Amino acid sequence: MSTELCKLKKSLKGELPSYILLVNQPRFVCTSCGRVANKKKNLCNPERMREK
Ligand SMILES: [Zn+2]
Repeated sequence: MSTELCKLKKSLKGELPSYILLVNQPRFVCTSCGRVANKKKNLCNPERMREK
């Protein structure tokens, strides 16, 4: 899966296991739609989250 998660909606159900791999350790948040992801390439408007 290489597309932006923000654009995945209909296909998410079938792709759930691979989706989880992309979001299980999120470092970026999308400032447009509020999704989170491990890699910024998977978000349309990524912003790095502050690490604890
Ligand atoms: Zn987005």
